[in-house]
Amino acid sequence: MNIEHLTGGCFCGGVQFQVEKPLEFISHCHCESCRLSHSAAFVTWTSVPTDQFQFVTGSDLTQRYQSESGAQWGFCRRCGSSMLYEIESAPGRIYISLASLEGSFDLAPESHVSFEEQVPWFHAGDSLPKYKGKSREPINE
Ligand SMILES: [Zn+2]
Ligand SMILES: [Zn+2]
Repeated sequence: MNIEHLTGGCFCGGVQFQVEKPLEFISHCHCESCRLSHSAAFVTWTSVPTDQFQFVTGSDLTQRYQSESGAQWGFCRRCGSSMLYEIESAPGRIYISLASLEGSFDLAPESHVSFEEQVPWFHAGDSLPKYKGKSREPINE
């Protein structure tokens, strides 16, 4: 059986990594931390067990910022692309921003999370479920 890989990396090309499929999930997160760390309206995340993630190059260029929650936000020290997320409450798992990955994904986005923190100037035009925080409590628009 062939192991299928996705490749990914940063804007300047200094950081490149490989992700072995299958992906665990894909979801859009609207929380303030994601928005500010990526300077974006929301961040689309996927994850894999850490043993399915491997740097091809630029592991030394990858800086980690630890936020108050204890999360580690991984970004390229040279160009600033924010790509990775790890947190103690999910040991053995690495989250990767989907926008930093190339290739065909075996999953589609399944939900919006932390939707109560969404910005007022963007409206998701899809019919995916929208949840409060990381719970499964629905939010109606
Ligand atoms: Zn870079
Ligand atoms: Zn978030």
